[in-house]
Amino acid sequence: MDHIRKIVIVGGGSAGWMTAAALSNALRGGAELTLVESEEIGVVGVGEATIPPIKIFNQTLGLDEAEFMKATQGSFKLGIEFVNWGASGHRYFHPFGDFGANFDAVQLYHYWLKERAAGDQTPLDDYSMAWAMAKAGKFSHPATDRRMVQSTFDYAYHFDAILYGRFLRAYSEVRGVKRVEGKVADVALRGDDGFIDHLTLESGEQISGDLFVDCTGFRGLLIEGALKTGYMDWTHWLPCDRAVAVPCKSAGEFTPYTRSTALDAGWQWRIPLQHRTGNGYVYSSQYLSDDEAASTLLAGLDGEPLADVRPLRFTTGRRKKFWNKNCVAIGLAAGFMEPLESTSLHLVQTGITRLLALFPTRDFDPMAEEEYNRITAGEYERTRDFLILHYHATKRQDTPLWAYCANMEIPDSLTYKMEQFRRAGRIVAHELELFRNPSWLAVYIGQFIMPERYDPMADMRGVDGAKMLSGLRRVMSEAAGAMPSHKDFVKHYCPAAQ
Ligand SMILES: Cc1cc2nc3c(=O)[nH]c(=O)nc-3n(C[C@H](O)[C@H](O)[C@H](O)COP(=O)(O)OP(=O)(O)OC[C@H]3O[C@@H](n4cnc5c(N)ncnc54)[C@H](O)[C@@H]3O)c2cc1C
Repeated sequence: MDHIRKIVIVGGGSAGWMTAAALSNALRGGAELTLVESEEIGVVGVGEATIPPIKIFNQTLGLDEAEFMKATQGSFKLGIEFVNWGASGHRYFHPFGDFGANFDAVQLYHYWLKERAAGDQTPLDDYSMAWAMAKAGKFSHPATDRRMVQSTFDYAYHFDAILYGRFLRAYSEVRGVKRVEGKVADVALRGDDGFIDHLTLESGEQISGDLFVDCTGFRGLLIEGALKTGYMDWTHWLPCDRAVAVPCKSAGEFTPYTRSTALDAGWQWRIPLQHRTGNGYVYSSQYLSDDEAASTLLAGLDGEPLADVRPLRFTTGRRKKFWNKNCVAIGLAAGFMEPLESTSLHLVQTGITRLLALFPTRDFDPMAEEEYNRITAGEYERTRDFLILHYHATKRQDTPLWAYCANMEIPDSLTYKMEQFRRAGRIVAHELELFRNPSWLAVYIGQFIMPERYDPMADMRGVDGAKMLSGLRRVMSEAAGAMPSHKDFVKHYCPAAQ
């Protein structure tokens, strides 16, 4: 077999170093790995909230959780609290994990719907272990005994993305990744087939390779600049195209969750880390100026700002092909959907996993490329639909952005899902759905999409739903009450150097 001998990763943001770490771990010296990055250009570095599968990524690398948390000033994340999304003044929680225990023939929420029809006003959130912990500011690892209510939640992390990159850089360099500092000035293509042949740095140094991984961020230097792959723009469905970000001093609660607050022209994130709190306003430039966004952000901080406000621009969408010839784009070079559900680093992770699963030889079988692109496109589109749901399913019409979103045309794939839920509480999922049923459920209910009826089986099995639900609430609240506070847990388990 004609094996890949040399892999060149261009870009040293989170995507570049996650790729370098995973490839060096998986290939174990089987191919030469070079990473080119330019300190002068810098990184985006605002990917601070994650979703639960990141634990698998870190475990595959063999990282010790507490060490990783210490090194990245990390905190725990049990989900996202959405404020003002469904309606002004309204809140709900998208928890990681199930509502109740997920093993009955009839899902818990159908009993909840039945009780609600009979007049009970208890929010669905109250049947999530993650929320029981989050609202009490508690954290502990999930129990492994599946019979315990403490096993029904999951978690992810908040961390400093720049520090995560540094941590993975040290990991990768120990495993043989060669880092080259410099700016790529030119990408040379082979005359016969248009594959990438080599890069030329501003210094004149040439770097050749068999496989190139484009982690150059929004600019997509290889996949777009050199290979002219094309981009699909989804701004008409996800209209936010800018962000301003600023860290501030830790103040207020050290929440074990992210808060997303809908504002007039977008939404604001709040992510508490050990050494500071990350904040940003994601907005649509059609409805708000950059100056107004910055002043709104600064006015909404719960501590003193620690840096200047940083502006960021993006176009929501994806590359027409993620893998083109001998180039695979990972990270922002592949596409970007705004950070509402913290999906970017996850898409980096799945891109890497897929590359390893379809790892090419030097003859680059076009069917590997086709399969990579097929699965990745599906993943982007399903994630996109989940994000659109947040914007579209709202009672808000009070500002031009929300009025637009409430009335916009949405993809047929999402209309179908919403209609299934509305009719009878059916949550339909395509294969390989990133966000599972409880996530869709949380957002449907949280944003007032109420099924017309509940599962008929909830009437047929002689279960006393009211008793079951109140028992569950009590057990969850007792279990959360017995846990340490998030602050104490972090202080003992993974304190970072201050
Ligand atoms: C507002 C905002 C909020 C976000 N929040 C989250 C979040 O909460 N959770 C999450 O998962 N993700 C989030 N993301 C996304 C996340 O930041 C990125 O997915 C992640 O940082 C990966 O970025 P990257 O490595 O692809 O690109 P970048 O960080 O831009 O890195 C690009 C790299 O390429 C190098 N480079 C570029 N051109 C050249 C050249 N000519 N020569 C040499 N090197 C070059 C740069 O030096 C840099 O090292 C957010 C993004 C934005 C914009």
